[in-house]
Formats: sequence, C-alpha cells, structure tokens
Amino acid sequence: MNITILTIFPEMFTALNHSILLRAQKNNLINIKVINIRDFSLDNNKRCDDYSYGGGAGMIMTPQPLFDAIKSVKTENSHAIYLSPKGSLLTQKKVEELAVSNKELILICGHYEGIDERIIDLCVDEEISIGDYVLTGGEYPAMVLVDAISRYIPNVLGNENTTDEESFSNGLLEYPQYTRPYVFEGLSVPEVLVSGNHQEVNKWRFEKSLEVTKLRRPDLYKKYFENLNKE
Ligand code: SAM
Repeated sequence: MNITILTIFPEMFTALNHSILLRAQKNNLINIKVINIRDFSLDNNKRCDDYSYGGGAGMIMTPQPLFDAIKSVKTENSHAIYLSPKGSLLTQKKVEELAVSNKELILICGHYEGIDERIIDLCVDEEISIGDYVLTGGEYPAMVLVDAISRYIPNVLGNENTTDEESFSNGLLEYPQYTRPYVFEGLSVPEVLVSGNHQEVNKWRFEKSLEVTKLRRPDLYKKYFENLNKE
C-alpha cells in the first residue's frame, strides 16, 4: 500500500521507522512517503501560515503550498484524508475499509488553527478525527492511522490471524491475556487456561469479553446484541 504524508514537520515521522512498520516498509508491503509542505511554498521565507480572516487568535495554514503539494502527488487512484478534530471518528471498521481499499492514501497534517477551508473543498475526500480532543498537529493522528491500517495489510503481522480476536474485531473488547510464569506475585493464571480444554477456554474468553465490554464500554455491548438480533 502507498501512503503519502504531507506535513510541515517531516522529521517527526522517523517514529514510523521501528519494529513492525520498519519491517513492513523494508519488505515493500507498505510504502510511506513523507513530503514537506514548506518545500512548495512560493513565499520568499517559505511561510505556510497567515492570519485568520475575521480575526481571532492563531494562524491558519495557507492554501497555496498545500494545494501544490497535494497536486504533486494526487492521482486518479488516490484518496486524500485531512486529519482533523472535526472529522468522523476513526473506528476499527474504517481502518479495515481503508486497508483493503486499494487506494493510495494522502494524509494531510494540519497545524496552528488548521488549514484554509478551500483546501478541504477542493482537494480533501474525507476528514478523520482520532478522538474528541484537540492536538497541536495532525502528525500524531497520521501516524496512528498508518499504524492501525498497516496491521490489516497482508503479511505485515507475523501471524495472519492476529487481528481476528482482538478488541473491536467482533464488536467486543478483548478477554484478559496471561503468559508465564503461572504464579506471579501470588496471583495465578485462571485454571481454565491451563486445562487444555479448548472449548472451555473459548467459552471463558467469550464470557470475559462480554464482561469487560459491558463494564467499560456499555455502548459497544448494546450495539453487539443489537447487531446479533439483526442477523
Ligand atoms: N482549530 C481547530 C479546531 O478547533 O477544530 C484545531 C486545530 S489543531 C490545534 C491543529 C491540527 O491538528 C489540525 O489542523 C489537525 O490536523 C490536527 N488535529 C488536532 N486534533 C486532532 C484530532 N483529534 N484528530 C485528528 N487531527 C487532529
């Protein structure tokens, strides 16, 4: 999958060059290109921000450098996403959709008070928010999106099934997990997990999934049963 990130802070994206994402890039499973929006600024001082029409605190990213940067990478097969607190909330379903879309993603990172609205009108296909809070820039949200999407690209994760039983994959949060030692600080692993009875293990895990979802995310718990009744 090809992902192009447009930012005024390209150096932040070295964070993507580690662990599973580094291996995925080395194996050409995912190609991440980071472009500095500032390189496209026609301003003598390479400025990319200006005052807000109508007044108010904070600067706005100017349209020209963004427009030219997007134009330089946009193709018929690309899908331009502006990371924005005003976008639709990112969900696992959305992550999966984007991962299998076969589109070349262009991720636009805003800064200051955001970007000129005309860029959204002219160039943006979708706005995505990573949560109901405001960050200083779209760089971390873009990295969150890249990381989440990469897990759905075939062969990126060592084990193809790893995403199958995780939180949100079936609409519920994941059951508790344990590893060795069997007893740690006086706490032992639930007996059923060492019983060797896979049916009982699956039953226990499902019950725990329901329990934790009901307690922590009653909204998901309700939706899970609504969807079951629809089937
Ligand atoms: N003035 C904007 C507002 O009130 O909606 C907030 C701008 S924010 C300080 C600067 C940039 O950070 C935004 O342009 C966007 O790219 C990014 N950003 C901030 N919070 C975000 C979030 N929750 N999800 C995605 N992007 C976010």
